[in-house]
Amino acid sequence: MVQIVGNRSDFVENGSKMRIWLGAWLGFGIWLGARLGFEIWLEARLGAAQIWRACGSLVFFLGRVGYSAEISDGECGPPRAPIDLIFAPLSSLHNAVYSADGTEVLSPIVLSNATPYKTFLELVPNNTLPDDFTRALKYSDYSSATTKINLAVDKLPQFQCCKLNHPDAGPQHVGTIHIGSESMEEIDLACQDAVNGVPSRRPVIEMTIPSVLDKTISPPGKHVINLFVQYTPYKPSDGSWGDSAYRESFAQKCFSLIEEYAPGFSSSIIGYDMLTPPDLEREIGLTGGNIFHGAMGLDSLFLMRPVKGWSSYRTPLQGLYLCGSGTHPGGGVMGAPGRNAAHVVLQDVEKP
Ligand SMILES: Cc1cc2nc3c(=O)[nH]c(=O)nc-3n(C[C@H](O)[C@H](O)[C@H](O)COP(=O)(O)OP(=O)(O)OC[C@H]3O[C@@H](n4cnc5c(N)ncnc54)[C@H](O)[C@@H]3O)c2cc1C
Repeated sequence: MVQIVGNRSDFVENGSKMRIWLGAWLGFGIWLGARLGFEIWLEARLGAAQIWRACGSLVFFLGRVGYSAEISDGECGPPRAPIDLIFAPLSSLHNAVYSADGTEVLSPIVLSNATPYKTFLELVPNNTLPDDFTRALKYSDYSSATTKINLAVDKLPQFQCCKLNHPDAGPQHVGTIHIGSESMEEIDLACQDAVNGVPSRRPVIEMTIPSVLDKTISPPGKHVINLFVQYTPYKPSDGSWGDSAYRESFAQKCFSLIEEYAPGFSSSIIGYDMLTPPDLEREIGLTGGNIFHGAMGLDSLFLMRPVKGWSSYRTPLQGLYLCGSGTHPGGGVMGAPGRNAAHVVLQDVEKP
């Protein structure tokens, strides 16, 4: 029996099948190792894992490029309101995209970076797709157990391991700060809680403090703290994320854990906002709250992403392409799915 980590396909008994899986995992491991190695090198060179205004500035500059493209070519550019419906094909030449504000945009090419599930099971009329494609999407794994907590605090955490008690930012506040998860057993227990349907009793917390690097996002003396928290089931069996007392108790559990490492943390909190998996789904359109637009198990990568037979960014609807993390090579702030999709679109457009 082979346990495949990060993937619930628990065992593969057939010998040759097993070799293929292990071979693929080895290849994936080499790729992952190379990527990790590069990240460690980068971190060693830069001395910090955070980049000033990181994702925010990327989005800002991409937005500027998008809008200048729209100005120079009236038909190109992002719609300004949420999309309600993609109807394709309206004719052999045009697809139609309808925004919630009633705007209709006609275009021969439509690219969607909403999740494949959202694109096809929520935005496209359901009688326009082949049954096997719809079925495969319906049963794709969008499970997730990630929660984001954004906090405003009136002083920086004082980590007792640093034996400092100084209000100013030091190197310990820069980069990603890991709270708890001091052993594999502890991480495993946190994960097992979620597998059993309840939020981790001792969650795995990654903390970043972007205001240490970017002074423009908080008033002087105050700070912004982001917590990336695992593991929180989408539908807990012992309560509901819709219940404010249940939410508050989980948030307090996270703050108490941080308090163990940085006494005084709880009393420094001015306010916080918590995004559980259902909140990530509702507010950012992440199906199941999955931050990568679908599980990144081996059975949903490469030629199986988003579903077997449709990994080329093309879709069963002519002119409608996928370009987000739900396509190969998956989630992460890297732009690779978009770059690949753009090449496929260019190939199709340039076909005689
Ligand atoms: C809390 C969190 C932490 C993360 N941490 C990391 C990390 O440390 N490193 C890393 O590499 N990646 C991280 N990721 C993942 C990374 O953010 C994603 O992989 C990446 O943003 C995916 O880009 P995308 O363009 O494919 O999709 P998205 O960034 O999800 O963009 C999809 C867009 O479509 C929009 N949309 C959905 N439905 C509609 C509609 N009907 N009409 C109009 N617009 C719609 C959404 O609002 C969204 O803006 C994290 C994600 C989250 C949520």
